Amino acid sequence: MAEKHIAFTFDDGPNTTVTPLVAKLFEDLGGHATFFLVGNNIIDETVEVVRSNYLNGHEIASHSLTHSDMTKFTADEISYEMEQTDIRVKAAIGHDTFYFRPPYIAYDQQMFDTIDKPFICGRGVDDWDKSVTTEQRIEGLLEKAEDGGIILLHDQEDNYSTVKALETVLPALKEQGYEFVTLSELFRLKGVKPLTDRPIIYSNVMQTENTYE
Ligand SMILES: [Zn+2]
Repeated sequence: MAEKHIAFTFDDGPNTTVTPLVAKLFEDLGGHATFFLVGNNIIDETVEVVRSNYLNGHEIASHSLTHSDMTKFTADEISYEMEQTDIRVKAAIGHDTFYFRPPYIAYDQQMFDTIDKPFICGRGVDDWDKSVTTEQRIEGLLEKAEDGGIILLHDQEDNYSTVKALETVLPALKEQGYEFVTLSELFRLKGVKPLTDRPIIYSNVMQTENTYE
């Protein structure tokens, strides 16, 4: 079966409940995920989760400091969000983040001009919404999986429904020939250098325009 690669990404952590469960699901299948952290969630109780995920081969990325709509911010405020998050990440794992996902996928030209990281979106199943059932999550994820694709999910506290969905979805996709890789691995495997010099937000690493929005 042809080999396919996909990057599962998780927003709004870290925490000590759902984040470790998510990481383990990928480790059990020999894969890795990417975690987009909210800087303010990196605290004494959670820093060890960040470190162990990193040491286990998962990727750590930035989802801002305060999870605000950054289109309302000045350039200085945007820079502060990015710098403070990277300071916290660096204290945990020894280096900065490379990728950025805007909170609420809200972005504008000023953000592209100010933030020197590739912007990542991804295809999701609105799993931050408790009214989306586990069954709907499973169906949506199986439908949205594609080679080179980025999947957008949430490892927020109490999101056990997504953990449950992944228990079904990941083995099913593995059966279809998918490998679960980090964002950096996905770009590298597809031979794509992520762009930061023009306004593009990625949902598949092979896209060259904002075709998913
Ligand atoms: Zn978020």
